[in-house]
Amino acid sequence: MTNNNKTTRTTCPYCGVGCGVLATRHPDGTVSVAGDPDHPSNYGRLCSKGSALGETLSLEDRLLYPEISGKRATWNDALDLVARTFQEAVRDHGPESVAFYVSGQILTEDYYVANKLMKGFIGSANIDTNSRLCMASSVAGHRRAFGSDTVPGTYEDLELADLVVLVGSNLAWCHPVLFQRLEAAKAANPAMRVVVIDPRKTATCAIADLHLQLKPDTDVALFNGLLSFLAEADLVNDGYVKRFTEGFAAAVKAAGPCEIGQIAETTGLKRQDIALFYEMVARTEKTVTVYSQGVNQSVVGTDKVNAIVNTHLATGRIGKPGMGPFSVTGQPNAMGGREVGGLANMLASHMVLENAEHRRIVQDFWKSPAIAEKPGLKTVELFNAVRDGRIKALWIMATSPVDSLPDADGVAEALKACPFVVVSEVTRAADTVPYANVLLPAAAWGEKDGTVTNSERRISRQRAFLDLPGDVRPDWWQLSEVGSRMGYAEAFSYPGPAAIFREHAGLSGYRNEGSRDFDIGAYEDVADAGFDALEPFQWPQPADTQAAETRFFAEGGFYTETGQGQFVPVVFKAPRQTERRYPFVLNTGRIRDQWHTMTRTGKTPRLTAHFAEPFAEIHPLDAKRLKIAPADLVKVQSPHGSVLVRALITDRGGEGQVFVPMHWTDQLAFNARVDAVVAPATDPHSGQPGSKFTPVAVTKAPMAWFGFAVLRQRPAKIAADYWALAPVPGGYRLECAGRNEADFAELATSLGLADCETVEISDVAGGWFRQAQWKEDHLQTAFYFSASPVEVSRQWACSLLSEDALAPRDRASVLAGRVPADRPDPGALVCSCFQVGCNQIAEAARCGAESVNAIGETLKAGTNCGSCRSEIQTLLDDIAKESLDDANIAKAS
Ligand code: SF4
Repeated sequence: MTNNNKTTRTTCPYCGVGCGVLATRHPDGTVSVAGDPDHPSNYGRLCSKGSALGETLSLEDRLLYPEISGKRATWNDALDLVARTFQEAVRDHGPESVAFYVSGQILTEDYYVANKLMKGFIGSANIDTNSRLCMASSVAGHRRAFGSDTVPGTYEDLELADLVVLVGSNLAWCHPVLFQRLEAAKAANPAMRVVVIDPRKTATCAIADLHLQLKPDTDVALFNGLLSFLAEADLVNDGYVKRFTEGFAAAVKAAGPCEIGQIAETTGLKRQDIALFYEMVARTEKTVTVYSQGVNQSVVGTDKVNAIVNTHLATGRIGKPGMGPFSVTGQPNAMGGREVGGLANMLASHMVLENAEHRRIVQDFWKSPAIAEKPGLKTVELFNAVRDGRIKALWIMATSPVDSLPDADGVAEALKACPFVVVSEVTRAADTVPYANVLLPAAAWGEKDGTVTNSERRISRQRAFLDLPGDVRPDWWQLSEVGSRMGYAEAFSYPGPAAIFREHAGLSGYRNEGSRDFDIGAYEDVADAGFDALEPFQWPQPADTQAAETRFFAEGGFYTETGQGQFVPVVFKAPRQTERRYPFVLNTGRIRDQWHTMTRTGKTPRLTAHFAEPFAEIHPLDAKRLKIAPADLVKVQSPHGSVLVRALITDRGGEGQVFVPMHWTDQLAFNARVDAVVAPATDPHSGQPGSKFTPVAVTKAPMAWFGFAVLRQRPAKIAADYWALAPVPGGYRLECAGRNEADFAELATSLGLADCETVEISDVAGGWFRQAQWKEDHLQTAFYFSASPVEVSRQWACSLLSEDALAPRDRASVLAGRVPADRPDPGALVCSCFQVGCNQIAEAARCGAESVNAIGETLKAGTNCGSCRSEIQTLLDDIAKESLDDANIAKAS
């Protein structure tokens, strides 16, 4: 394939917004990306992660050849071994003894083949996906209310609404382009109101008219109160409720009376804020409620979903422009996985495993020898079964469970004990790779070809624009080969993804006749050329229909047995109490510029500059009590495990809460895999872990020394009690610390270079040591060690590695660790695209740039991808508040 200078229309591989991307491959091998102006999800926008896609495509750390027991192997040998071992396990221990653990990163065609092989040919439903960790509670909630896993609305609804309620959703960081669409709509419609319901004051609050900072896991109490409020105030849409739904009275009874004082006590919210929220909902017909991981990742996640959906059914605000409950998915193809039955409790094409007729339909269509008859093991159960020996052969695709599953250390132990583990991966720099008996090199973004479905049911093409490197093969091919070698060649002889897509489309329409929501039968005969040229479209699109924007349930038409939408009686259950030993609630989540386990976003300095090391947000009052100062290191511990991370003292979260990002792995930090701390408690309906509520202890980690270094090369080994590494232009930056005083000297020696001019200064009494190494005028390494966290401008120090040559006076400032007067310290990075720091923004604000747009005009910050606009707004708000405080103090004195 030679695509030089050819632009390919494809789709971003990160979040569930599903932005269209134009990727252009240049003769020098580089790839530039831009937003696709014609894609209806993003209309040309890309966030910071999407904009940096071109910088993540290097072959560094790529897995290029199959390996058996750590040794390079041929595909033939590797596939034969996988097929034979799975077959033997099924023969000796039954179909329930094998399992696939797949991912919302794989394409629908990959997913389809995996599901078909497991459920239709092996005859077990032991295929689950990391989407279980992301939105399984929404699936369960949808199915309870609608009889199907249907997202009723579209992105446009957020723009058409007069009230957008964001529950457990940091849209600004986790779905940035959708947030930008909302922000633009709010700017264009001054009457629009935005309410954020979240225990943390996130970047999304920058556009909130009201932030309800409720206690963790009390959402059900708030939405049950809203349902009762609507019922008691006679604000229910009786016509809709009577014609299209069932169970209203039972749901209201379960919700209990609307006692705002009681709700305030339960949620920790002010009575007037609750009343204001209820009034806003009551008087705003066009209301959309968006919910995400803060709702789903809970042991009561499904109840939260239904408590929200109940309020929309009660008002009939569903499936109409600007109205509806709206689940936004974390991953690029979580929805595609749901469509093909990638969850252990689903059949293909949104059919139901427990439904004998559905099983018959699927088995007939596949002409398969078997069909799974009962739900398989959901993710946490699955790895428990691996641990206790019930699973004899496990195939993991495109995900790293030893990083992302709760009780992650227990998962690592389980994999160690499993007799046969296959890992299909893009990179060898993933923490799950060492546990594989067989490693299969998989195609990465830019090499794969197929489809993905975004949060608004829009199916888009991911197209290949790069050659497959080495012996890399796509996941669907690997699965088909194994299926064929297990004796099912006829069913798995796909020539390419277009054929799989046709079959998937055919199954969706097979004996459907409007009985099931998911139907893309219009594409069952699409030619290869038509598949290549496929435009983004929303499902459903049954045979003989044209692509159209669609919404569900405005006029009923639910997929329940009675055809009526179901109110689900939801009773509020008080969240688990924290214990004396574990008095804090750990919340985990995403940060703006990183994606999952950082195997791609962790490669580019542009994205690691925003947060270069793992951290724990701690409330100032908790920090004071625990004697934790800014930049100290803290240990966050549960009965399952612990992490050592940097303290970030902030009132973003409430007292007694601590937030740690989910991204860091052993590849870029030591002892920072936060899922080792997370409890494996799950929602009883969805099986989704409650990743946002683990009781933990937080303690200051005493260190004898702290270090910071910039290095040209990645060190092979870092001997320190704490370290975190991040790429910077021209090298790496290292944060480190140790418990033993002597260790820092050893570390400096081990990281230093042999053939350099070395200059060092130290102050034994002051407890600091600095060393710089030079080759002519080029800085090679600089180390700063001290007894307290190192105070050196990271932005400035990192920039020294990409300087052509440093003047003699700059040498002095390197050792002094002081930014020269003529090079102002830009401060912590805010805008990744233009590398603008907070000090620069503060200075511009002081000079009169008082709005985000004015900052953009002055510094360009926020004018490209726009992902930092909410942070700029927050900074400006803080600066304005500080000025006001100063003015008040001056007045008072
Ligand atoms: Fe990708 Fe960002 Fe769009 Fe999400 S919002 S799909 S991460 S560009």
